[in-house]
Amino acid sequence: MTETTLSIIKPDATKRNLTGRIIAHFEEHGLQVAAMKMTQLSRREAEGFYAEHKARPFFGELVDFMCSGPVVLMALKGEGAVMKNRELMGATNPAEAAEGTIRKLYARSIGENSVHGSDSAESARRELSYFFPATDLY
Ligand code: ATP
Ligand code: MG
Repeated sequence: MTETTLSIIKPDATKRNLTGRIIAHFEEHGLQVAAMKMTQLSRREAEGFYAEHKARPFFGELVDFMCSGPVVLMALKGEGAVMKNRELMGATNPAEAAEGTIRKLYARSIGENSVHGSDSAESARRELSYFFPATDLY
């Protein structure tokens, strides 16, 4: 089934000039960019986006980090795109990420882990609508 999911290239990666390599990784593994914009998130936007983690001890750190530099917001489209994107990203903690995954290749720590990806079809719908009106998708 063709799906669309939300991907974010996080500030640790944009600052290290990894944007092109990360997009190429998705394209080389069967996902297509269906919408894309580079922006710097406000605190309000980052807090709203990660609202599900509000009670976690790392929430403040997570919001600070996500606002610390530019991010690239992307809608990625393809067969089983939600789970495919999660597989390509690798585990949250790069120390536990499989060989060849984006986080294994590029992430610096569990916090500065280079990419975000929606974790279910329902999250993908919510997260895509948070950043992209349906009319922006190709
Ligand atoms: P994401 O939602 O960014 O795709 P994920 O689904 O793999 O990542 P979540 O459990 O949703 O992981 O955590 C959201 C983000 O919060 C992580 O990507 C990471 O940046 C940060 N985070 C998670 N756990 C920790 C932690 N123990 N310490 C610091 N930051 C953390
Ligand atoms: Mg998550």
